[in-house]
Amino acid sequence: MVTVRLKEGRQRSVKRFHPWIFSGAIKEIDGDPEPGQTVRIRTEGGKDLGCGAYCPRSQIRIRVWSFNRDERIDRDFFKRRLLNALEFRRTILPSIDSDAYRIVNAESDGLPGIVVDRYSDFLVCQFLTAGAEYWKGVIISLLRELIPCKGIYERSDLKIRLKEGLRPQNGIFWGEEPPDRLMIYESDIRFWVDIKRGQKTGFYLDQRDNRRAIVKYSKGMDILNCFSYSGGFGIYALKAGAARVINIDSSSEALELAKENLSINSLPVSSTENIRGNAFDILRDLRSSGKRFDLIVMDPPRFLDSRSKIVNACRGYKDINMLAFQMLKSGGILFTFSCSGLISPELFQKLIFDAALDAQVDAKIIGRLSLPIDHPVSVYFPEGNYLKGLILKIS
Ligand code: SAH
Repeated sequence: MVTVRLKEGRQRSVKRFHPWIFSGAIKEIDGDPEPGQTVRIRTEGGKDLGCGAYCPRSQIRIRVWSFNRDERIDRDFFKRRLLNALEFRRTILPSIDSDAYRIVNAESDGLPGIVVDRYSDFLVCQFLTAGAEYWKGVIISLLRELIPCKGIYERSDLKIRLKEGLRPQNGIFWGEEPPDRLMIYESDIRFWVDIKRGQKTGFYLDQRDNRRAIVKYSKGMDILNCFSYSGGFGIYALKAGAARVINIDSSSEALELAKENLSINSLPVSSTENIRGNAFDILRDLRSSGKRFDLIVMDPPRFLDSRSKIVNACRGYKDINMLAFQMLKSGGILFTFSCSGLISPELFQKLIFDAALDAQVDAKIIGRLSLPIDHPVSVYFPEGNYLKGLILKIS
């Protein structure tokens, strides 16, 4: 096996079980590994630190599969990791109370670059790194062996694959093709999901608990659901007795699903207005028109993928949250989120503080939200903790 020696002083993160090794940490390589091939990782002095997948194109040059120097990376290794992930999901399944959930959460399940989500009878996978791509065939055959399902679909159509030298891919791996619209449930609520063309793997599974959290604030309320996708938060709110919901999203496909999600939950079409367009503009128009809400959900997409964009991203968060505060009625509630991993919970709270100050409202944090149990976060991989939310109440 090809050996990679790390620079003295750059071995610390590996010793602390962080799974990423950056190109700058590498001292020398005694060979020319192909993308995704397994390499042995050693200290400069030659001590064995484990092994990982090599990616010649990415800044993250190695993703560690195992810190155990005696562990071989082969089919059995992946079987052990998958069984481990599955066993955990089996124990938590009753509390998830849904047939759509994450089975493999990449680094945090010891499988960097690999995501497996379940939607009813279908599995949807993402292979995001050279190492994940290298073992794709093995993983798919293991999924077939370990999880009874109708079909396995690939949604690796993400730009981040380009950084790894991989082309985006989307298609059937095995079994039946998923229908254009697949129905899933979360508790007593139903959603249409488009596995093949929807965002992420089809649905924002990571917001399940937070959608549920809106229920107790919704009865009789006038709600603005900004960055609504297929209507998730709004459907929960209406089911809990909300008076009216306005969804804003830039995607017409998402809003079409949001409309269809009303009827499968026996909710009248008149309960919801969908506005398609850029939320930054629409929020300003709504504010100018004098519209006010009892509850606002602000769940924007990731604003940044590199530190160089942090200033603009912070401005964006502050701006939309200021607008939200200005549009809340007195006593109103704001559910606000950031799914940018580069924005820490502390920084996010500071931005919300700045937004409240600009809007001149007295806001209190009455709840903190994060990832659901099927999206575990390894303590050694804080980057996995990307989603944070605050529930605020203004006076
Ligand atoms: N709250 C949703 C998930 C929202 S994800 C849920 O629970 O399912 C973010 C959404 O923002 C996506 O649906 C995306 O289409 C939308 N979006 C991205 N940029 C936008 C913009 N500038 N204006 C309005 N919507 C936008």
